[in-house]
This record gives sequence, C-alpha cells and structure tokens, in this order.
Amino acid sequence: MKTLASLVLSAIALFAAAPEEFSTSAGTLQIIIIQHASLLIKAGGKVLYVDPAQGSYDGLPQADYILITDIHGDHMAPAVVDKLKKASTQIVAPKAVAEKFPGALVMANGDTKTIGEFKIDAIPMYNLKPAADGQVYHEKGRGNGYVVTYGGKRFYFAGDTEGTPEMRALKNIDVAFIPMNLPYTMTPQAAAEAVRAFHPRVVYPYHYRGQDTAIFAKALEGSGIDVRLRDWYAK
Ligand code: ZN
Repeated sequence: MKTLASLVLSAIALFAAAPEEFSTSAGTLQIIIIQHASLLIKAGGKVLYVDPAQGSYDGLPQADYILITDIHGDHMAPAVVDKLKKASTQIVAPKAVAEKFPGALVMANGDTKTIGEFKIDAIPMYNLKPAADGQVYHEKGRGNGYVVTYGGKRFYFAGDTEGTPEMRALKNIDVAFIPMNLPYTMTPQAAAEAVRAFHPRVVYPYHYRGQDTAIFAKALEGSGIDVRLRDWYAK
C-alpha cells in the first residue's frame, strides 16, 4: 500500500513534469523545466532552448533557436547544442560564447534582436562584488540575461547575476526566472529583494542548487508576486 507521503511525492513528480503554460496574444506558450538553468520554450510551433546544458534531453525536440547566457559549463555545453541543433538552428549568444559557435547571432548587453516571432533583449548579468572567496565569477559585459517577448508577454531569464540596477529597473515583466546560489549569484534573500524592486507578475527560482527556495518565497509573501517553486533537480 502506498503511504500518503509517497502519494504526495508522486503527485509532485507528475506536476513537475507538466509544462508551465502561459496565454499570450499569439497563443499558448509552454515552458518545460529541464534542470538548473536549462529550459525549453515551445510557442507558435517553434522550439527555443535557454542554456541547454544540464539534465536529460532524451525525447526533447530539436531546436529552432538556442539562447546561451554565459561561458560556464552549466550554461554553455557544445555537446548538448550539437545534439539539439538542426541545419536551420539559430544560436544567440554574447561574444565570449559565440566564439565557440560559428554562425551564432552575437548580442551585447543592451542589444535587441528579433528572431522569428520572438523579440530578444540582452540584459547585463554580473556580480556586484567579489564573492567571499575573492573571485568575481561574472564580470559585467561578458554574459547576457534575456527578456524574451512573445505574443505581448515578457519572459525574463536572468542568467548568473546579482540583483543589479539593470535588473531592478526592468519594467512590465510577466514571468521571471531568477538565480540564487552562492558563491556564483546571490542569496535567496537578496534575490527576493531584487524581485520586489521590478515586481514581475510571476517568478520562478532557478539555478538554486543547494539553496532553500522557501526562504525566497517567504520573503515575497504579501508582495502580490506569484512565486512558483518547482523541482529543478528531479532525477
Ligand atoms: Zn551558472
């Protein structure tokens, strides 16, 4: 006989596997969580990956577009990109990443490009100060976060960043994906504080390995922001 706990766990596993769905003026947009910072967007018959690097890609579709934020292995994985690529796949990346992918569309911080039905804004992502170990893991200008606009809805994938002035100044974000892990990005508390400043309608913690996302959710209680906790590290 199944215990209540095991039933609840299997219900959560089912729920985690289901795509996140958003209605837009151009129809439904689905986001499929893969792992850590890796996810997949399906909209208008197109497939757009963000940072395909970690987790399993078995059974997932070939890419029309691939956005890559930075050079580190949990964001840029040439072997995974090779597996997902087809002849027409457009890769979008900052210069430091694009050097590894001939034909990639290069975006610098602040650039805007349109690929198919998606408008892409490149947002700075960086550390505000050295980490406790003295290292600066993300220098300003090297990597891009992205705001992807589709059917009038704006989806923000922050990449590896702290709560920068550029993040805090974002406007009209419908759905945000925000990292929280030290020493690479920021604490759940700092993430919540930055999110309060730009006030997306919906926020998902991602890139949070080893952190307690409940702290982030608690810090946003009463803010009116819809915090969606999902298991990004399911086996
Ligand atoms: Zn990372």
